[in-house]
Amino acid sequence: MKGVAAGLTQPLRAARVACGMATSRKPATVRDLRTGTPVWLADGAAPPPTHVAPDSLSVDVAIIGGGISGALIADALLQAGRGVAVFDRRGLVAGSTPASTALLQFEIDQPLTMLSRKIGRERAARAWWRSAAAVDQLRARVADLDLRCGMRERSTIYLPGNVLNAEALREEAEARARIGLRSAYIGRDAVRALCGIARPGAIVSQGSAEVDPARLTRGLWRSALARGAQLFAPVEIADVAPRRGGLRLTTAAGGTVRARAVVHATGYEIAPALRPRGYDIISTWALATRPQPDAMWPGRSLIWEAADPYLYIRSTPDGRVIVGGEDEEFSSAERRDRLIPRKIARLQAKASKLMPWIDWTPDFTWAGCFGQSATGLPAIGALPGMPGCYAALGYGGNGITFSMIAAQMLSRALLGLADPDADIFGFS
Ligand SMILES: Cc1cc2nc3c(=O)[nH]c(=O)nc-3n(C[C@H](O)[C@H](O)[C@H](O)COP(=O)(O)OP(=O)(O)OC[C@H]3O[C@@H](n4cnc5c(N)ncnc54)[C@H](O)[C@@H]3O)c2cc1C
Repeated sequence: MKGVAAGLTQPLRAARVACGMATSRKPATVRDLRTGTPVWLADGAAPPPTHVAPDSLSVDVAIIGGGISGALIADALLQAGRGVAVFDRRGLVAGSTPASTALLQFEIDQPLTMLSRKIGRERAARAWWRSAAAVDQLRARVADLDLRCGMRERSTIYLPGNVLNAEALREEAEARARIGLRSAYIGRDAVRALCGIARPGAIVSQGSAEVDPARLTRGLWRSALARGAQLFAPVEIADVAPRRGGLRLTTAAGGTVRARAVVHATGYEIAPALRPRGYDIISTWALATRPQPDAMWPGRSLIWEAADPYLYIRSTPDGRVIVGGEDEEFSSAERRDRLIPRKIARLQAKASKLMPWIDWTPDFTWAGCFGQSATGLPAIGALPGMPGCYAALGYGGNGITFSMIAAQMLSRALLGLADPDADIFGFS
């Protein structure tokens, strides 16, 4: 055993691994998170200024990760009166967050009917309620902070596919309505009237939203900075180890940060020891068209298919249309990037079939890491066996909604308060 782990007792060594960092000074996992230019980066706007970490620093809560998860967690912790320092090896808003197509859906990847069979009716209902509440709360928080980030409430249209056909969608809509979610089944004429698509039926749901994820996250970091957060980038955290009264983080440059607590908000860069059971990193692709405001559908609902691989469509405020999906169950960045031309052509072809009046020629194309778990749910909470260590990981399709849930759950946990849904999202 070399390096900083030498001399640790077995439980402490296990705790260090559980905290997600390697026992040497190398980080556990580095990924090529995305390729191409997501439409949100076209404006060239910069994130707020950051610092290079000093050789030695003492903080209350250290957050590893400068994406949307870290930003929402920092916001909630600052509201709770905690001090926050953030570290990102790339830069703020430089990981997966700007690659997001940012449909803020309360609809979890796993339909309510299927999730109920997997984790039980009561827990599935709580997961869906929590998700619906999180989208509302995120919209409210954006309004409180007056963040100009293209946040708009949107309905969603969930079309039949090879996962749920029209009949199964009807049952899904009824199951959702029974527990008070704002979903209803609509027939062919109503689908056509809402989005011009020819399908026998769909679920229409109220209360989701869309956003520009880069502007949202930059705005959150600017607000956090104004409220006293310390922002450090590019700074890689290479090791987290217990020390008396807290934790000691070691940066890749050899600096030391003492913290009372640490939150891992590292997105799809998950140390093997932290990977939630049944969670896989996969690959996904997206494109954005030129602005064509005259081609918009009424209400500009978010559209997605109950299909595998799935397809989803949204518009932007300036009338571009984004289509994404075509997910594949591998994580190799080389393979993902080689497939970009083929996957973009496939997205264009599928989208043209659904909405032939739109010009699907891409103005922007990109690809990235994505995640999928057996239940569609993330892992959020305290890391077992490691006092003071927390994580929010394991996101799939509605990652940003889950980042909001993570912010609520972790700020409560750090105040010593129990969360009623810890049994659904927790690590244990
Ligand atoms: C193409 C695509 C489409 C998507 N569409 C949607 C969608 O429509 N709706 C939705 O809700 N979600 C969507 N997602 C998912 C969403 O983008 C993610 O859930 C979200 O961005 C994760 O945010 P994060 O802050 O956890 O991760 P990131 O933004 O990746 O931030 C994590 C940061 O941690 C840093 N880091 C990691 N390890 C270390 C270390 N050891 N030291 C220092 N820094 C470290 C990384 O540099 C990174 O910047 C999509 C994703 C992709 C790729």
